Amino acid sequence: MTAGGEILVVGAGLVGSSVAMHLAELGVQKIRVIDFDLEGSLSSSELNAGGVRATWLEPLNVQMSRGSINYFSKVAEEVGYRACGYLWLHPDSRMKAVELAVAKQNENGWPVDLLSVKQIQDKIPFLDKTDGVAGGVFSARDGLINPNLLKNHFRARAKKRGVLFEDRALLREARFSESGGKVRVRVEKFEAVMSHETKKEVLTQRQPQEGLRNLVEFEVDTLINCAGPWASDVAKILGYSCPSFPVRRQVSIFDCREIDLTPYGMIVDTSGVYFHPEATNGLAGFATQEPKGYNFDYDGEGFFQEHIWPALYERSSSFEKLKHVTGWAGLYEVSPDECAILGAVNRGPAGSSGRLFEAHSFSGHGVMQSYTAGLGLAEKIVQGKYQTLDLAPLGAERFETGKLLNEKWVI
Ligand SMILES: Cc1cc2nc3c(=O)[nH]c(=O)nc-3n(C[C@H](O)[C@H](O)[C@H](O)COP(=O)(O)OP(=O)(O)OC[C@H]3O[C@@H](n4cnc5c(N)ncnc54)[C@H](O)[C@@H]3O)c2cc1C
Repeated sequence: MTAGGEILVVGAGLVGSSVAMHLAELGVQKIRVIDFDLEGSLSSSELNAGGVRATWLEPLNVQMSRGSINYFSKVAEEVGYRACGYLWLHPDSRMKAVELAVAKQNENGWPVDLLSVKQIQDKIPFLDKTDGVAGGVFSARDGLINPNLLKNHFRARAKKRGVLFEDRALLREARFSESGGKVRVRVEKFEAVMSHETKKEVLTQRQPQEGLRNLVEFEVDTLINCAGPWASDVAKILGYSCPSFPVRRQVSIFDCREIDLTPYGMIVDTSGVYFHPEATNGLAGFATQEPKGYNFDYDGEGFFQEHIWPALYERSSSFEKLKHVTGWAGLYEVSPDECAILGAVNRGPAGSSGRLFEAHSFSGHGVMQSYTAGLGLAEKIVQGKYQTLDLAPLGAERFETGKLLNEKWVI
C-alpha cells in the first residue's frame, strides 16, 4: 500500500499499539487507533501476569517470543523487563516430550536447560517438596515485564510519528465499497468519563444495542482488527467470521511473608499453577475449566483456597501460611489451536480484499509476542510480505486447510 492511505486500527492494547508503532516506523503517515477504553482497564493487556518466555513447542512461537524478548532486553529499564527466568516442573509422564521440546528450543536459538530434581532444589531452595516432580526446564532469558510500561512505550513511539489514539470510540459498523474504494466506518463516541461498571456493561455486551448515540462517520483505506478477546465481535461488524472466543482467567495476589520471592522468576508447577513475585507479594494463576464468554468476576478467596494454595503448599513448607490479598479476572482470547491469528483477512465481504487485516487471539501469550506480531503485520501491509519472520502460518486459512499449529506448552 502507499504510505498516504489512512489505516484504522481497532483496539489499542499491546497488539494494536505495537502494530500502529511499526506501521508508523515503516512510513505510514495516517494512522488512527480507536479504543472504547484507551486506559484499558478491562483489556487483557492490563489484566495479565506479565510473563515473557520463548519456551514453546512450535518453532514459530519460539521465534516470535525470542524476537520480542530480544527487543525487550534492549529497552529493559523503560518496559520493566527482568530476565529472571522461567522454571517449569514436570512429572515423569512428560519428561520424554520435554526433552524433545528442549532440544527444539535450543535449536531455535533459545538457551534452555533440563534440570534434575536436585538441580531444581539447588537453584530454588524453598521448593522443598518435590513429590510428583521428575525434572524441570529452566530458561534464564525468559522473565517478567511490566505490560503497562510496554504499552506506553509502544504508544509513545507511535505518537512520536504522528499516530492518533482516540479514546471512548467503539467501532459499530464498517461498510466496504464493492468497487474496492474506501471503507465507511461508524464509531460510537462516549463523551463522559465512564465508571468501571459502565465499561464492564459495554464490554460484556450487557448494554442495550438500540438507541446508539453520538455516532461518528468517517472513511479509511485499511482496517485492522486488534480487538483481543473482542476480536470475533469486531470481525462480525467487519463482515467476516472468526473462530476464537473469550474465556475467563483468574489470578490471585498473596502475602508470602515467610519467604522473599523477589530473587526468583516465574515457576510453573506440575499442577498447572504458575506463580512469581509481584512487588513484595506473590502472584499466582490457574486455568480453570470455563465456559466461553465475557466474565470479569473474580471468585476471590474461594479461588485462591481451592486452586492456588493447595498446589503451592504441595511444593513448599514455606507456603503453609500464605494469605490471600486480592486478585482479578481477565480474558484470554483463544483460537482453536491456541496460537495467534494474524495476517490479511481473505474471507471478508466484497471489496475488503487488501483492505482488511487482523492480529489477535494470542491465547494467553500476547504480551510476549506483541513486538514481533506488530512488526510482522506492519511489514505485510506496507511491504507486501513478511520480512523479519515468516508469519504466514498464523493466517486464519489454517483453520480451513487443517494446517494447524501444534502448540502444547500453553498455560
Ligand atoms: C489472567 C491473564 C494472564 C495472562 N498472562 C500472560 C502472560 O503472562 N504473558 C503473556 O504474554 N500474555 C498473557 N496473557 C495474555 C495477554 O494479556 C493477551 O494475549 C494480550 O494482552 C492481548 O493483547 P491485545 O492487544 O490483543 O488485546 P487487549 O489488550 O484486550 O486489547 C483489545 C482492545 O480492544 C478494544 N476493543 C474491543 N472492541 C472494540 C471495539 N468494537 N471498538 C474499539 N475498541 C474495541 C478493547 O477495549 C481493548 O482495549 C494473560 C491474559 C490474562 C487474562
